[in-house]
Amino acid sequence: MMQNSGCVQRSITVLGATGSIGTSTLDIVARHPERFRVEALTANGNARKLAELAIRFNASYVALSDPAHFSILQEALNGTGIECAAGVEAVTEAARRNSDMVMSAITGSAGLAPTMAAIERGSKILLANKEALVCAGELMKKAVLENRAVLLPVDSEHSAIFQVFDDKGRSGIHSLVLTASGGPFRGWTAQQMKAVTLKEALNHPRWSMGAKITVDSASMMNKGLELIEASYLFDMPEDRIDVVVHPQSIVHSMVNYIDGSVLAQLGEPDMRTPIAYAMGWPERLRTPVEPVSLARLGQLTFEEPDEKNFPCLALARQALRAGGSASVVLNAANEVAVDAFLNERIHFLDIASFVEDALASIQPGACSSIDEVISLDREVRNSVKACIKA
Ligand code: NAD
Ligand code: MG
Repeated sequence: MMQNSGCVQRSITVLGATGSIGTSTLDIVARHPERFRVEALTANGNARKLAELAIRFNASYVALSDPAHFSILQEALNGTGIECAAGVEAVTEAARRNSDMVMSAITGSAGLAPTMAAIERGSKILLANKEALVCAGELMKKAVLENRAVLLPVDSEHSAIFQVFDDKGRSGIHSLVLTASGGPFRGWTAQQMKAVTLKEALNHPRWSMGAKITVDSASMMNKGLELIEASYLFDMPEDRIDVVVHPQSIVHSMVNYIDGSVLAQLGEPDMRTPIAYAMGWPERLRTPVEPVSLARLGQLTFEEPDEKNFPCLALARQALRAGGSASVVLNAANEVAVDAFLNERIHFLDIASFVEDALASIQPGACSSIDEVISLDREVRNSVKACIKA
Protein backbone atom coordinates (compact mmCIF):
# COMPACT_ATOMS: atom_id res chain seq x y z
CA MET A 1 0.00 0.00 0.00
CA MET A 2 1.36 3.47 -0.86
CA GLN A 3 1.37 5.87 2.08
CA ASN A 4 1.35 9.63 1.65
CA SER A 5 5.03 9.81 2.74
CA GLY A 6 5.79 8.03 -0.55
CA CYS A 7 7.15 4.79 0.90
CA VAL A 8 5.56 1.38 0.54
CA GLN A 9 4.05 -0.15 3.65
CA ARG A 10 5.13 -3.77 4.19
CA SER A 11 3.55 -6.39 6.41
CA ILE A 12 5.65 -8.27 8.96
CA THR A 13 5.09 -11.41 11.03
CA VAL A 14 7.19 -11.76 14.17
CA LEU A 15 7.86 -15.31 15.39
CA GLY A 16 9.01 -15.04 19.01
CA ALA A 17 7.45 -11.59 19.43
CA THR A 18 7.70 -11.51 23.24
CA GLY A 19 11.45 -12.16 23.33
CA SER A 20 14.46 -9.88 23.19
CA ILE A 21 14.72 -9.83 19.37
CA GLY A 22 10.93 -9.83 18.99
CA THR A 23 10.44 -6.72 21.13
CA SER A 24 13.37 -4.90 19.47
CA THR A 25 11.79 -5.70 16.10
CA LEU A 26 8.47 -4.24 17.25
CA ASP A 27 10.33 -1.18 18.53
CA ILE A 28 11.52 -0.57 14.94
CA VAL A 29 7.97 -1.15 13.66
CA ALA A 30 6.67 1.43 16.14
CA ARG A 31 9.24 3.97 14.94
CA HIS A 32 8.24 3.50 11.28
CA PRO A 33 4.46 3.09 11.22
CA GLU A 34 4.34 4.34 7.63
CA ARG A 35 6.61 1.47 6.52
CA PHE A 36 5.39 -1.53 8.54
CA ARG A 37 2.13 -3.21 9.45
CA VAL A 38 2.00 -6.28 11.73
CA GLU A 39 0.32 -9.33 10.25
CA ALA A 40 0.95 -12.00 12.91
CA LEU A 41 2.74 -12.43 16.24
CA THR A 42 3.70 -15.60 18.13
CA ALA A 43 5.04 -16.55 21.57
CA ASN A 44 5.64 -19.66 23.60
CA GLY A 45 3.76 -19.17 26.88
CA ASN A 46 3.57 -15.47 27.74
CA ALA A 47 -0.09 -14.97 26.79
CA ARG A 48 -0.50 -11.61 28.53
CA LYS A 49 2.46 -9.98 26.81
CA LEU A 50 1.45 -11.48 23.46
CA ALA A 51 -2.09 -10.07 23.82
CA GLU A 52 -0.72 -6.68 24.83
CA LEU A 53 1.54 -6.55 21.75
CA ALA A 54 -1.23 -7.81 19.45
CA ILE A 55 -3.55 -5.01 20.60
CA ARG A 56 -0.84 -2.34 20.49
CA PHE A 57 0.26 -3.28 16.96
CA ASN A 58 -3.20 -4.23 15.72
CA ALA A 59 -2.08 -7.69 14.54
CA SER A 60 -4.46 -9.78 12.46
CA TYR A 61 -3.49 -13.14 14.00
CA VAL A 62 -1.64 -14.36 17.09
CA ALA A 63 -0.46 -17.82 18.05
CA LEU A 64 0.68 -19.21 21.37
CA SER A 65 2.80 -22.34 21.19
CA ASP A 66 1.91 -23.63 24.66
CA PRO A 67 -1.87 -24.32 24.78
CA ALA A 68 -1.85 -24.28 28.61
CA HIS A 69 -2.12 -20.47 28.58
CA PHE A 70 -4.56 -20.14 25.70
CA SER A 71 -7.59 -19.15 27.81
CA ILE A 72 -5.67 -16.07 29.09
CA LEU A 73 -4.97 -15.06 25.49
CA GLN A 74 -8.57 -15.60 24.40
CA GLU A 75 -9.90 -13.58 27.30
CA ALA A 76 -7.46 -10.72 26.73
CA LEU A 77 -8.33 -10.53 23.02
CA ASN A 78 -12.07 -10.91 23.48
CA GLY A 79 -13.91 -8.30 21.42
CA THR A 80 -10.79 -7.06 19.59
CA GLY A 81 -11.44 -9.03 16.40
CA ILE A 82 -7.86 -10.37 16.52
CA GLU A 83 -7.84 -14.02 15.51
CA CYS A 84 -5.94 -16.31 17.90
CA ALA A 85 -4.91 -19.95 18.10
CA ALA A 86 -2.69 -22.23 20.21
CA GLY A 87 -0.30 -25.13 19.68
CA VAL A 88 2.85 -25.77 17.67
CA GLU A 89 0.90 -25.96 14.40
CA ALA A 90 -0.74 -22.58 15.10
CA VAL A 91 2.73 -20.99 15.24
CA THR A 92 3.62 -22.51 11.87
CA GLU A 93 0.28 -21.23 10.57
CA ALA A 94 1.36 -17.71 11.56
CA ALA A 95 4.45 -18.11 9.37
CA ARG A 96 2.26 -19.33 6.50
CA ARG A 97 0.03 -16.28 6.54
CA ASN A 98 0.60 -13.80 3.81
CA SER A 99 3.16 -11.20 4.90
CA ASP A 100 6.02 -9.48 3.12
CA MET A 101 8.57 -10.48 5.74
CA VAL A 102 8.93 -12.83 8.68
CA MET A 103 11.21 -12.16 11.63
CA SER A 104 12.35 -15.62 12.74
CA ALA A 105 13.18 -15.05 16.42
CA ILE A 106 12.06 -18.18 18.23
CA THR A 107 14.84 -19.68 20.34
CA GLY A 108 16.16 -23.09 19.35
CA SER A 109 15.22 -25.74 16.84
CA ALA A 110 11.54 -25.13 17.70
CA GLY A 111 11.87 -22.29 15.18
CA LEU A 112 12.80 -24.59 12.30
CA ALA A 113 9.33 -25.70 11.12
CA PRO A 114 7.77 -22.20 11.14
CA THR A 115 10.85 -20.71 9.43
CA MET A 116 10.61 -23.37 6.72
CA ALA A 117 6.90 -22.59 6.28
CA ALA A 118 7.77 -18.93 5.65
CA ILE A 119 10.53 -19.92 3.19
CA GLU A 120 8.15 -22.24 1.33
CA ARG A 121 5.81 -19.39 0.53
CA GLY A 122 8.71 -17.34 -0.82
CA SER A 123 8.76 -14.73 1.92
CA LYS A 124 11.61 -12.47 2.93
CA ILE A 125 13.05 -14.08 6.09
CA LEU A 126 14.88 -12.02 8.68
CA LEU A 127 16.82 -14.77 10.42
CA ALA A 128 17.73 -14.38 14.08
CA ASN A 129 17.04 -18.03 14.94
CA LYS A 130 20.55 -19.39 14.31
CA GLU A 131 19.72 -22.87 15.67
CA ALA A 132 17.40 -23.51 12.70
CA LEU A 133 20.19 -22.83 10.22
CA VAL A 134 22.70 -24.86 12.28
CA CYS A 135 20.34 -27.87 12.15
CA ALA A 136 19.20 -27.63 8.55
CA GLY A 137 21.50 -25.24 6.70
CA GLU A 138 21.68 -27.10 3.37
CA LEU A 139 17.96 -27.90 3.30
CA MET A 140 17.01 -24.34 4.17
CA LYS A 141 19.28 -22.86 1.51
CA LYS A 142 17.88 -25.23 -1.10
CA ALA A 143 14.32 -24.28 -0.14
CA VAL A 144 15.22 -20.57 -0.32
CA LEU A 145 16.43 -21.03 -3.91
CA GLU A 146 13.50 -23.22 -4.96
CA ASN A 147 10.89 -20.87 -3.54
CA ARG A 148 12.67 -17.62 -4.45
CA ALA A 149 12.63 -16.60 -0.82
CA VAL A 150 15.14 -14.10 0.55
CA LEU A 151 17.18 -14.95 3.64
CA LEU A 152 18.70 -12.00 5.49
CA PRO A 153 20.88 -12.34 8.58
CA VAL A 154 19.93 -10.60 11.83
CA ASP A 155 22.69 -11.96 14.08
CA SER A 156 24.98 -8.95 14.52
CA GLU A 157 28.11 -10.73 13.27
CA HIS A 158 26.41 -12.04 10.15
CA SER A 159 24.72 -8.74 9.48
CA ALA A 160 28.18 -7.13 9.71
CA ILE A 161 29.67 -9.61 7.23
CA PHE A 162 26.66 -9.25 4.93
CA GLN A 163 27.20 -5.48 4.90
CA VAL A 164 30.85 -5.75 3.80
CA PHE A 165 30.78 -9.00 1.79
CA ASP A 166 31.40 -8.49 -1.93
CA ASP A 167 29.21 -11.29 -3.23
CA LYS A 168 29.96 -10.48 -6.89
CA GLY A 169 33.70 -10.52 -6.21
CA ARG A 170 33.86 -13.72 -4.19
CA SER A 171 37.23 -14.70 -5.68
CA GLY A 172 38.68 -11.67 -3.91
CA ILE A 173 37.57 -12.89 -0.50
CA HIS A 174 40.21 -14.55 1.65
CA SER A 175 38.34 -15.35 4.87
CA LEU A 176 35.77 -14.22 7.44
CA VAL A 177 36.50 -13.09 10.99
CA LEU A 178 33.76 -13.36 13.60
CA THR A 179 34.21 -11.21 16.68
CA ALA A 180 33.20 -12.52 20.12
CA SER A 181 32.80 -10.54 23.32
CA GLY A 182 34.23 -13.42 25.35
CA GLY A 183 31.23 -13.30 27.71
CA PRO A 184 31.29 -12.89 31.50
CA PHE A 185 34.01 -15.52 32.04
CA ARG A 186 36.60 -14.21 29.60
CA GLY A 187 40.06 -14.90 31.03
CA TRP A 188 38.79 -17.48 33.54
CA THR A 189 40.26 -20.98 33.81
CA ALA A 190 38.08 -24.12 33.84
CA GLN A 191 38.97 -24.47 37.53
CA GLN A 192 37.56 -20.98 38.22
CA MET A 193 34.41 -21.75 36.20
CA LYS A 194 33.66 -24.95 38.15
CA ALA A 195 31.40 -23.23 40.65
CA VAL A 196 29.87 -20.43 38.57
CA THR A 197 26.27 -19.64 39.39
CA LEU A 198 23.36 -19.18 37.02
CA LYS A 199 23.25 -15.50 37.97
CA GLU A 200 26.92 -15.05 36.99
CA ALA A 201 26.37 -16.83 33.66
CA LEU A 202 23.36 -14.61 32.90
CA ASN A 203 25.30 -11.44 33.57
CA HIS A 204 26.56 -10.65 30.05
CA PRO A 205 28.96 -7.70 30.02
CA ARG A 206 27.86 -6.14 26.69
CA TRP A 207 24.58 -7.50 25.31
CA SER A 208 21.09 -7.78 26.77
CA MET A 209 19.56 -10.98 25.33
CA GLY A 210 17.34 -13.98 26.10
CA ALA A 211 18.56 -16.49 28.70
CA LYS A 212 19.56 -19.30 26.32
CA ILE A 213 21.79 -17.21 24.06
CA THR A 214 23.28 -15.47 27.12
CA VAL A 215 24.41 -18.85 28.51
CA ASP A 216 25.67 -19.81 25.03
CA SER A 217 27.72 -16.60 25.02
CA ALA A 218 29.21 -17.46 28.41
CA SER A 219 30.26 -20.94 27.19
CA MET A 220 31.33 -19.63 23.74
CA MET A 221 28.89 -22.10 22.15
CA ASN A 222 27.19 -19.04 20.71
CA LYS A 223 30.31 -18.36 18.65
CA GLY A 224 30.42 -22.03 17.66
CA LEU A 225 26.82 -21.89 16.42
CA GLU A 226 27.62 -18.62 14.64
CA LEU A 227 30.59 -20.22 12.92
CA ILE A 228 28.26 -22.86 11.46
CA GLU A 229 25.71 -20.16 10.64
CA ALA A 230 28.37 -18.14 8.78
CA SER A 231 29.52 -21.20 6.89
CA TYR A 232 26.01 -21.75 5.50
CA LEU A 233 25.09 -18.11 4.94
CA PHE A 234 28.30 -17.18 3.11
CA ASP A 235 29.23 -20.58 1.69
CA MET A 236 32.57 -20.66 3.47
CA PRO A 237 34.46 -23.74 4.73
CA GLU A 238 35.30 -24.02 8.42
CA ASP A 239 39.01 -23.29 7.90
CA ARG A 240 38.23 -19.91 6.30
CA ILE A 241 36.31 -18.58 9.31
CA ASP A 242 38.36 -17.21 12.20
CA VAL A 243 37.19 -16.02 15.59
CA VAL A 244 38.74 -13.14 17.50
CA VAL A 245 37.73 -12.03 20.98
CA HIS A 246 36.86 -8.34 21.13
CA PRO A 247 35.46 -7.47 24.58
CA GLN A 248 34.04 -4.04 23.64
CA SER A 249 31.67 -5.53 20.99
CA ILE A 250 32.03 -2.54 18.69
CA VAL A 251 33.52 -4.27 15.63
CA HIS A 252 30.79 -6.77 14.79
CA SER A 253 32.81 -8.89 12.31
CA MET A 254 35.08 -8.58 9.30
CA VAL A 255 35.86 -9.84 5.82
CA ASN A 256 39.52 -10.31 4.84
CA TYR A 257 40.25 -9.75 1.14
CA ILE A 258 43.17 -11.28 -0.82
CA ASP A 259 44.84 -7.89 -1.31
CA GLY A 260 45.22 -7.37 2.43
CA SER A 261 42.13 -5.18 2.83
CA VAL A 262 39.97 -5.86 5.85
CA LEU A 263 36.39 -4.56 5.76
CA ALA A 264 34.51 -4.40 9.04
CA GLN A 265 31.19 -3.07 10.28
CA LEU A 266 31.16 -1.14 13.56
CA GLY A 267 28.33 -0.05 15.81
CA GLU A 268 27.13 0.16 19.38
CA PRO A 269 26.04 -3.25 20.72
CA ASP A 270 22.32 -2.70 20.10
CA MET A 271 20.42 -5.32 18.09
CA ARG A 272 18.12 -2.67 16.65
CA THR A 273 20.88 -1.81 14.15
CA PRO A 274 21.11 -5.27 12.48
CA ILE A 275 17.34 -5.78 12.88
CA ALA A 276 16.60 -2.48 11.11
CA TYR A 277 19.16 -3.31 8.42
CA ALA A 278 17.36 -6.56 7.61
CA MET A 279 13.89 -4.97 7.83
CA GLY A 280 14.74 -2.09 5.53
CA TRP A 281 17.17 -3.85 3.18
CA PRO A 282 18.31 -2.70 0.71
CA GLU A 283 17.44 0.66 2.26
CA ARG A 284 18.62 1.87 5.65
CA LEU A 285 16.16 2.83 8.38
CA ARG A 286 16.67 5.37 11.11
CA THR A 287 17.14 3.91 14.61
CA PRO A 288 17.81 5.64 17.95
CA VAL A 289 21.30 4.05 18.03
CA GLU A 290 23.98 6.74 17.93
CA PRO A 291 27.06 6.25 15.73
CA VAL A 292 30.12 4.95 17.56
CA SER A 293 32.46 7.64 18.87
CA LEU A 294 35.94 6.12 18.50
CA ALA A 295 37.59 9.06 20.26
CA ARG A 296 35.35 8.57 23.28
CA LEU A 297 36.03 4.82 23.33
CA GLY A 298 39.79 5.46 23.12
CA GLN A 299 40.78 1.90 22.38
CA LEU A 300 39.44 -1.33 21.00
CA THR A 301 41.19 -4.58 21.96
CA PHE A 302 41.41 -8.00 20.34
CA GLU A 303 42.74 -11.35 21.54
CA GLU A 304 42.81 -15.04 20.56
CA PRO A 305 39.89 -17.17 21.82
CA ASP A 306 40.79 -19.59 24.61
CA GLU A 307 39.66 -22.91 23.12
CA LYS A 308 41.20 -24.93 25.97
CA ASN A 309 39.04 -23.44 28.72
CA PHE A 310 36.07 -22.88 26.36
CA PRO A 311 35.83 -26.19 24.46
CA CYS A 312 32.43 -25.43 22.84
CA LEU A 313 34.03 -23.51 20.01
CA ALA A 314 36.24 -26.47 19.06
CA LEU A 315 33.25 -28.83 19.36
CA ALA A 316 31.31 -26.69 16.88
CA ARG A 317 34.28 -26.69 14.48
CA GLN A 318 34.42 -30.47 14.83
CA ALA A 319 30.69 -30.79 14.02
CA LEU A 320 30.97 -28.48 11.01
CA ARG A 321 33.95 -30.43 9.64
CA ALA A 322 32.15 -33.75 10.21
CA GLY A 323 29.29 -32.37 8.12
CA GLY A 324 25.95 -34.11 7.58
CA SER A 325 23.84 -33.93 10.66
CA ALA A 326 26.61 -33.65 13.28
CA SER A 327 25.47 -30.06 13.79
CA VAL A 328 21.97 -31.31 14.68
CA VAL A 329 23.55 -33.43 17.43
CA LEU A 330 25.70 -30.53 18.65
CA ASN A 331 22.75 -28.16 18.77
CA ALA A 332 20.20 -30.53 20.33
CA ALA A 333 22.64 -31.64 23.05
CA ASN A 334 23.50 -28.02 23.77
CA GLU A 335 19.83 -26.95 23.95
CA VAL A 336 19.00 -29.69 26.46
CA ALA A 337 22.15 -29.06 28.52
CA VAL A 338 21.59 -25.28 28.62
CA ASP A 339 17.97 -25.84 29.66
CA ALA A 340 19.17 -28.13 32.49
CA PHE A 341 21.71 -25.47 33.55
CA LEU A 342 18.99 -22.78 33.48
CA ASN A 343 16.93 -25.02 35.78
CA GLU A 344 20.00 -25.51 38.00
CA ARG A 345 20.15 -29.25 37.44
CA ILE A 346 23.72 -29.35 36.05
CA HIS A 347 26.87 -27.26 36.46
CA PHE A 348 28.06 -24.78 33.88
CA LEU A 349 31.03 -26.90 32.75
CA ASP A 350 28.74 -29.92 32.28
CA ILE A 351 27.20 -28.21 29.24
CA ALA A 352 30.32 -28.79 27.12
CA SER A 353 30.73 -32.33 28.51
CA PHE A 354 27.20 -33.36 27.51
CA VAL A 355 27.72 -31.93 24.02
CA GLU A 356 31.07 -33.69 23.66
CA ASP A 357 29.58 -37.01 24.82
CA ALA A 358 26.63 -36.69 22.44
CA LEU A 359 28.94 -35.98 19.49
CA ALA A 360 31.06 -39.01 20.40
CA SER A 361 28.21 -41.46 21.03
CA ILE A 362 25.48 -40.60 18.50
CA GLN A 363 26.25 -41.53 14.93
CA PRO A 364 24.54 -38.90 12.81
CA GLY A 365 23.47 -40.03 9.36
CA ALA A 366 22.72 -37.63 6.55
CA CYS A 367 19.34 -35.89 6.94
CA SER A 368 17.67 -35.52 3.57
CA SER A 369 14.48 -33.84 4.78
CA ILE A 370 13.31 -31.46 7.52
CA ASP A 371 11.31 -34.33 9.04
CA GLU A 372 14.54 -36.33 9.39
CA VAL A 373 16.23 -33.33 11.04
CA ILE A 374 13.33 -32.97 13.49
CA SER A 375 13.38 -36.69 14.22
CA LEU A 376 17.18 -36.73 14.89
CA ASP A 377 16.81 -33.58 17.00
CA ARG A 378 14.17 -35.38 19.12
CA GLU A 379 16.29 -38.55 19.42
CA VAL A 380 19.34 -36.59 20.63
CA ARG A 381 17.23 -34.57 23.08
CA ASN A 382 15.79 -37.74 24.61
CA SER A 383 19.21 -39.34 24.86
CA VAL A 384 20.83 -36.29 26.53
CA LYS A 385 17.84 -35.85 28.86
CA ALA A 386 18.24 -39.49 29.95
CA CYS A 387 21.98 -38.93 30.60
CA ILE A 388 21.21 -35.82 32.69
CA LYS A 389 18.65 -37.73 34.78
CA ALA A 390 21.03 -40.65 35.37
P1 NAD B 1 14.17 -14.86 24.03
O1 NAD B 1 14.25 -16.00 24.96
O2 NAD B 1 14.25 -13.48 24.58
O3 NAD B 1 12.83 -14.97 23.16
C1 NAD B 1 12.47 -16.14 22.51
C2 NAD B 1 11.10 -16.01 21.88
O4 NAD B 1 10.75 -17.27 21.30
C3 NAD B 1 9.99 -15.67 22.87
O5 NAD B 1 8.98 -14.92 22.22
C4 NAD B 1 9.41 -17.05 23.24
O6 NAD B 1 8.07 -16.98 23.65
C5 NAD B 1 9.57 -17.79 21.93
N1 NAD B 1 9.80 -19.24 22.13
C6 NAD B 1 10.72 -19.80 22.94
N2 NAD B 1 10.63 -21.14 22.86
C7 NAD B 1 9.64 -21.41 22.00
C8 NAD B 1 9.06 -22.61 21.53
N3 NAD B 1 9.49 -23.81 21.94
N4 NAD B 1 8.06 -22.54 20.63
C9 NAD B 1 7.60 -21.33 20.20
N5 NAD B 1 8.10 -20.15 20.62
C10 NAD B 1 9.11 -20.20 21.51
O7 NAD B 1 15.33 -15.10 22.94
P2 NAD B 1 16.10 -14.01 22.05
O8 NAD B 1 17.29 -13.55 22.79
O9 NAD B 1 15.15 -13.03 21.50
O10 NAD B 1 16.66 -14.94 20.88
C11 NAD B 1 15.83 -15.43 19.85
C12 NAD B 1 16.70 -16.04 18.75
O11 NAD B 1 17.51 -15.01 18.20
C13 NAD B 1 17.67 -17.12 19.24
O12 NAD B 1 17.81 -18.10 18.26
C14 NAD B 1 18.98 -16.37 19.42
O13 NAD B 1 20.11 -17.20 19.26
C15 NAD B 1 18.89 -15.35 18.29
N6 NAD B 1 19.67 -14.14 18.52
C16 NAD B 1 19.37 -13.34 19.59
C17 NAD B 1 20.13 -12.19 19.81
C18 NAD B 1 19.81 -11.25 20.95
O14 NAD B 1 20.44 -10.21 21.08
N7 NAD B 1 18.84 -11.54 21.80
C19 NAD B 1 21.19 -11.87 18.96
C20 NAD B 1 21.46 -12.70 17.88
C21 NAD B 1 20.69 -13.83 17.67
MG1 MG C 1 25.67 -12.85 17.41
